[in-house]
Amino acid sequence: MSFVAEFNALPLPSLVRKSLTAGAAPVRESLSKPRLALTDFAHLISPAASECLESLSQRSHRLTQQRFGKVIRLFAPLYLSNECINNCQYCGFSRDNAILRVTLSPEEVKREAKALQEQGFRNVLLVAGEHPKFVSPAYLEDCIRALHAEIPSVSLEVGPLETAEYRPLVAAGADGLVVYQETYDRGVYAQMHTAGPKRNFDWRLETPERAYTAGFRRLGISPLYGLADWRFEAISVAAHADYLLRNCWKAQVTISLPRLRPCAGEFQPLTHMNDRDLAQLVCAFRIMFPDAGLVLSTREPSRLRDGLVPLGITLMSAGSHTEPGGYTGAGREKLHQTVRGRIVELASGASEWAPQTNRATNATGQFDIADERSPQEVADLIRRLGYEPVWKDWDAALMA
Ligand code: SF4
Repeated sequence: MSFVAEFNALPLPSLVRKSLTAGAAPVRESLSKPRLALTDFAHLISPAASECLESLSQRSHRLTQQRFGKVIRLFAPLYLSNECINNCQYCGFSRDNAILRVTLSPEEVKREAKALQEQGFRNVLLVAGEHPKFVSPAYLEDCIRALHAEIPSVSLEVGPLETAEYRPLVAAGADGLVVYQETYDRGVYAQMHTAGPKRNFDWRLETPERAYTAGFRRLGISPLYGLADWRFEAISVAAHADYLLRNCWKAQVTISLPRLRPCAGEFQPLTHMNDRDLAQLVCAFRIMFPDAGLVLSTREPSRLRDGLVPLGITLMSAGSHTEPGGYTGAGREKLHQTVRGRIVELASGASEWAPQTNRATNATGQFDIADERSPQEVADLIRRLGYEPVWKDWDAALMA
């Protein structure tokens, strides 16, 4: 049975109701269990559990130290392309947005990776919009091969593919795949995805399973908080993680915690999740899944990120750029707009060429980041908090 069948059978409305109405007694009872079920997770994200956030944090902190030690792994996103055939209302790369686009060549990708390597990174997440013409499986394979000798840990966050299309990417050296479901609410999903193959909710939901079958050994999942009710999303992604841990047991499962950020298109979040909710959710995920990686990106501001580190976070991005060429200016001379799949050259001297402050390229980013510290500043802060920053997540040599 795939997760789609299990997801369709989940009593989600009743779990959300339990989460909203649980009193202190069910929270205490759930916390006393050695192994938690989905109902217990619903209790841990309840308003009643928010009242005892201090004891949740202590438990989460203890569990994280037992399972992961005092270590925070660092990674950087490397954007290959901001071309996309989908229209996702909340994303700057949506095909109808008149943004400056570019797809880096494998050589340019190597240049970007070298810049990240010089900053210390050995763990890179390759990110691209979904566009079969510009971001084909063969192109992805070339990019992975170009990097693999220098960067031991390469993960992907790209448009979903078939199992057979994933296999050569694993063979080329990619070991992790991240796919956000964006929202687990089918109605909201249909409203948010108005054009393109991403409209297929089930196809996306099954992506981690196809990736696992193809040989990926790290699977990252998440909703994007700000589209549907956060408790509904959290219970859904917890069910998804639970399924993957039972059925894709050779893989490490990571859960991200992205909240919507400003982007081209000016989309406003439909729902709100405050900082305290986010902290509570970190603790609930850790208590429910002691061995899952919990990922925090530069979408969150520095002070909040610093405060969440001891609660249960194990992986953080740092110094991120969300535009292709953001680290070196690679691809700057190829910037264009894309209209109905066709490249439209910019007139020379057009205002888009005017240099922007603090940016290596004028390509449009996916969203604005909130923590603008350099990777070294983030690493120093991690040390000051008593943790060791680790730049490398995985080496294929370990399996050899
Ligand atoms: S979220 Fe992904 S698929 Fe949707 S527009 Fe942005 S890049 Fe494209």
